[in-house]
Amino acid sequence: MKQRNSKARAARPEAAKKGRRDAHKDAAGRVHLTVHRDPASGHERVALRSPVFQEAWQNDVATAAANTAYAVLRGEPSVDGAIELARNAMAATSRLAAGLLARAPGGAVACRAGCDHCCYQAVGITPPEALAIVDHLRSTLSDAALERVARRVSDGHERTRDLPSSERFSPDHPCPFLESGRCSIYEVRPLSCRGMNSLDAGECATRLRDPEARAAFLASGKGGRSFMEPIRAFHAISAGLQLGLSELFRLDMRPLELTAAVHLLLTGPESLASEWIRGQRPFEPARGADQGKDPGPSGPIDALGRASGRDP
Ligand code: SF4
Ligand code: SF4
Repeated sequence: MKQRNSKARAARPEAAKKGRRDAHKDAAGRVHLTVHRDPASGHERVALRSPVFQEAWQNDVATAAANTAYAVLRGEPSVDGAIELARNAMAATSRLAAGLLARAPGGAVACRAGCDHCCYQAVGITPPEALAIVDHLRSTLSDAALERVARRVSDGHERTRDLPSSERFSPDHPCPFLESGRCSIYEVRPLSCRGMNSLDAGECATRLRDPEARAAFLASGKGGRSFMEPIRAFHAISAGLQLGLSELFRLDMRPLELTAAVHLLLTGPESLASEWIRGQRPFEPARGADQGKDPGPSGPIDALGRASGRDP
């Protein structure tokens, strides 16, 4: 049960071999990244062809994330490499978010340990994040504990698999990793959970638990009152990861839904991760109820939005 299937190395696909010169286009026919040789160092560097964010620092962060992806996977893309990249992106997002949060006006950010109103909704993740989460579960839990988690994920998936994100935002649908108000996968929690914050915990509670306030919140299409910088940091890192892997290695980086993706990895064939690293699309069933018609990666705005703190 605890066997890692992440050792699989892909026979490097032709597309990935020539990816540097023949970057994969997104559904709109755009290519965002280019690879060039730095004349000073002689090293290859990934750069953005044109900015994808308004804020210059976000473009720098996205470029750094894409460079890390290129450096880690360029020899021979592997599932282990993808997990390493996800871990790296998770650590970088937390580091950046912590630094940015430290600049928030004193006491403005309301988030505290044990405050969990934001853990009752669909959560968007990338395939490497899903692989890192399942790798973490398999390597840290006993067989019995893993069985319990798999059952909870499976129950959650059964209840929510056909629900659009608007209906997932409900006190009836806690994240399966929420245990006694705490995140049980804190070390490998998704990137979006790391940028999440609010300036008003009462607002978070009310809009989740009061049906009228929830309906008004969902109808408004607006995010809650948040300190936007950590959320922008998450968007930038996630974009760099998505663009790097989809354009340079032709991996399917369309966003997945957390519960569905973990359920698929825990119950699906062991070959699933290696199929993905070979450029196939085995994560299709984990795309989430309102993502199924998405034609493909379209960059930073492709991630599933969370019900709080959407960048306007
Ligand atoms: S986002 Fe809202 S619910 Fe989540 S920890 Fe912060 S204040 Fe609490
Ligand atoms: S993964 Fe953790 S932080 Fe994210 S929604 Fe689930 S319980 Fe909350």
